[in-house]
Amino acid sequence: MQTQKIGTAIKIFGVVIGLFVFCVMPATTQAAPDALNTITLAGEFSDADAIFLRTNLETLRDQFPTWYQYVIDAQPLTIAIDSSEGALGHAAIAKCCDAQGRGVITFGFHFGQSPDDAEQTIEAQRVAFIGTLVHEVTHIRDQRAGRFTTKTDYKSCVAIEKSGLEKQLEVKRALATGDLGAAFAHALNQQIGDEATALRSRELWQHYCGAFQN
Ligand SMILES: [Zn+2]
Repeated sequence: MQTQKIGTAIKIFGVVIGLFVFCVMPATTQAAPDALNTITLAGEFSDADAIFLRTNLETLRDQFPTWYQYVIDAQPLTIAIDSSEGALGHAAIAKCCDAQGRGVITFGFHFGQSPDDAEQTIEAQRVAFIGTLVHEVTHIRDQRAGRFTTKTDYKSCVAIEKSGLEKQLEVKRALATGDLGAAFAHALNQQIGDEATALRSRELWQHYCGAFQN
């Protein structure tokens, strides 16, 4: 039973991995359109993706200003969509920082269109997206602050991912108190409980960091 729940939570978390790689994004960055004039959008962004991002940032700004500030403080920030990452099973990755000092978060799927988003309500998709965004923003903030700068073994991998996953869970707990969460309160509270359990499970860390244990 516990294993079943943990498996579900891992699926909910998605394959969110943090990569700390010093590299330069390809020159595909587009200055416009950007969300709330603060974040550069790059890659395969569609109009629908831009609207989705803007809507969620506006919800944070208007209802959860502390979390909005948490994201905005990760600037300078580029958010990209690269379906080749999705094809590799990566829901999102964070890189900090490029040659211009920008943190880069790359999503592997158009927003609301990952395999985990299928059959979810729009509210559930939005909560999942904000959770993933906060997770990746945490990696960039940590890196800039000199925390968890290397992911070279199981222990350092767990430290990095624990930081991201705890913030991901924390923002979901906040969202559960607002309109978004109220739209699917029972399922979201169940999800939050499962994810909290998963964070204390060996299976979760095997999922994220097992590759370092050979
Ligand atoms: Zn991560």
